Amino acid sequence: VVLAMSAALNPALFLADEPTSALDVASQGQVSRLLLRMRAEHGCSMLVVSHNIGAISLVADRIGVMRAGELVEIGERDQVLHAPVHPYTKELIAAVPRAGRNAVDESGWGGGRLMALLEVCNMSKSFRKRGGGLFRALDGVNLSVEAGEIVGLVGSSGSGKSTMANVLAGLETADAGTVRFQGVEGDASVRLSWRSREFREAQLGMQMVFQHPTSSFSPRMKVGEGVAEGIAYRGVARVERMPLVLDALESVGLPRTYAGKYAWELSGGECQRAAIARAIVGNPVLLLADEPTSALDVTIQAQIVRLLAELCAERSMACLFISHDLALVRSLCTRVYVLDSGRVVEEGPTTHVFASPQSDAAKLLVSSVIDI
Ligand code: ADP
Ligand code: MG
Repeated sequence: VVLAMSAALNPALFLADEPTSALDVASQGQVSRLLLRMRAEHGCSMLVVSHNIGAISLVADRIGVMRAGELVEIGERDQVLHAPVHPYTKELIAAVPRAGRNAVDESGWGGGRLMALLEVCNMSKSFRKRGGGLFRALDGVNLSVEAGEIVGLVGSSGSGKSTMANVLAGLETADAGTVRFQGVEGDASVRLSWRSREFREAQLGMQMVFQHPTSSFSPRMKVGEGVAEGIAYRGVARVERMPLVLDALESVGLPRTYAGKYAWELSGGECQRAAIARAIVGNPVLLLADEPTSALDVTIQAQIVRLLAELCAERSMACLFISHDLALVRSLCTRVYVLDSGRVVEEGPTTHVFASPQSDAAKLLVSSVIDI
């Protein structure tokens, strides 16, 4: 719709500021092709701005690289991509996640069969549609995560990934399904506050990292207070909280002094580190990470993915890593579930799903991975 609004004016120069950054890879490809078609049809010029040199490579004839307000390199697309001159351009190209590059050593994971930490059985959830009727966001989903395992949950926008995470975290109630976590079973269709005390206590071992780092902190709280929320509800006394908070900040690579800053004073990457600190400060056994890097630029994305891999390894923490970006999942997860319209259409070791995707949804996601 936004493209149509701009095209309607028949511009001679079309400025597109990060036109595809908020989209999943499949939609990114579609919008990129649409941009090219618009250019052909309207005969206009385009200046496309992006933090992702991979996304730019889909549409640009020439690429300019900016750093700290300065144009450090500009040239023909292929020359910049394949023979970059400036070190920063090289860094940007190296940071594009792609198939076959691993942030973690695969042999370190999934050796013997571990005990299932989380088991989701037959989870369904519908939302009421505007004009009446029901929309099935989750349709009989089964999945499991073993202790210490990093599992990917992928699917294009609207496939039900966040709904799954929200139900697990207790932010939404499902229509049906059971969840077994740390050996305690709970009915996902029962509201969190009415679930058994035993299950609610077990559920504290699961913590969430959200997509938008800044909006996941209260603007009126200092980062330290925000991170402390991760243990306040566990009844940790006020005086005991700050040392734990400072340790958590340190383990995500932030200076301790950041406890005294506001979230909006931090960069996106720093803020997401603080959000990870809030999630791990209470020592969870499972991290639910819902698109934790999609609001960040690619260089920072790679750092955050590496941080998550390190934290999971150090703490034997498991992670359900939700993403529409299969290349990122490939670099982090040993196993992956592919969700399409609320159903699991494919599951298996990431390498297998990546090498020979069976379902249309997986094929589309794999084929849309940007390789430069
Ligand atoms: P994803 O995270 O995979 O992009 P979501 O789980 O957020 O997908 O959403 C799945 C589908 O459910 C979408 O079509 C969305 O519009 C719908 N949906 C999600 N939350 C609600 C809600 N609170 N009310 C109505 N529809 C919703
Ligand atoms: Mg989502």
